[in-house]
Amino acid sequence: MAIGLYIHVPFCRTRCHFCAFYLQIHRDDKAQRYLASLAREIRLHADLNSLGGRHLDTVYFGGGTPTTLLPDQLTGILELIRECFGLQERAEVTLEAHPNTVTAEGLRCLVRAGFTRISFGVQSMDDDELVLIGRRTHGTTARAAVVAARRAGFANINLDLIYGYPGQTIASWRATLDETIALEPTHLSCYAFTLEDHTRFQVDVRRGDRAEPDAEFQNVMEDEALRRLAAAGYERYEISNFSRPGYTCRHNLLYWQGDEYLGLGPSAQSYLNGCRFGNVDDLTAYHRALEAGRLPILEVEQLSPGQRVREAVAFGLRLTEGVDLGELSSDSMNGEWERTLNRLVERGWLEERSGRIRLTGLGRRFADSVAVELL
Ligand code: SF4
Repeated sequence: MAIGLYIHVPFCRTRCHFCAFYLQIHRDDKAQRYLASLAREIRLHADLNSLGGRHLDTVYFGGGTPTTLLPDQLTGILELIRECFGLQERAEVTLEAHPNTVTAEGLRCLVRAGFTRISFGVQSMDDDELVLIGRRTHGTTARAAVVAARRAGFANINLDLIYGYPGQTIASWRATLDETIALEPTHLSCYAFTLEDHTRFQVDVRRGDRAEPDAEFQNVMEDEALRRLAAAGYERYEISNFSRPGYTCRHNLLYWQGDEYLGLGPSAQSYLNGCRFGNVDDLTAYHRALEAGRLPILEVEQLSPGQRVREAVAFGLRLTEGVDLGELSSDSMNGEWERTLNRLVERGWLEERSGRIRLTGLGRRFADSVAVELL
């Protein structure tokens, strides 16, 4: 079974209007203290042998914006990870990046250090819409960043896009898709906009300054993305993720296939030995725990065998290939759970074919509700 490591870097230069992730605005002194705490956390897990001696198949630096840290700081963390846990020979090492936080020299340094995949948060190629969603950047910056990353040696490049927010038009979404496809990334993530608590968008909607997101309009935009991406040779392998053949995100597949991962940094989540646990989502509490020599773990939940199977199905259904019914133990298929599956099939959200269950086209639009019913 594969194993991965997630590093949460909790800094951004500014906060986008739709974003509810745990983060702080970057400052050099905060970054220095975070790096010291993260190094302590890595060493503590190494001393505890949390990974049972297994070398990592994937490492994923997410956030926040990891590239608010300097290339030397990022490569320093990766070196420590290599020293403390070990990396498989062909490990996938992903770095999330904001297009306006990378330089050609910095990207070359990251490739030399062993980063194999870069994921740019592009969101839109339309300058007016970038202002609307609070991204202080331009479409041209994203284009230049992709070109620079490829020149630096990144052969595996993901671009994140967001669609269906109030103010976006179908014409601008088509243009963003076309311009993005023209950059020839190996992977694309297209996320439907959701109105999150404690965001600028939510405040504006409550005040009546912005419209509510429109689910029907989002469906039209999703269909547009499916058509354009399929025509350009991208395969949809998960609800929001598309790749060229051979370029699925191995790290994210760990989450959907029920594999194990360790998450480090404030608010990071882990799944090891049938146990889910999460770090505190507060930088001060994170430092306090580590400076006292303790892991900053807040919540621990040991899953029963039945829960593990239900989770594996709920996450696995996000994948286009669905879930192999033959891999589910008969113990987990109790009467109530089978009735839930049958109800979802009757509703047209799930289908069973050749021994696998999958979300239908309609079911993909209700994937979160399906997961809630199955868990
Ligand atoms: S750059 Fe990404 S993580 Fe940072 S505020 Fe914007 S969406 Fe959130």
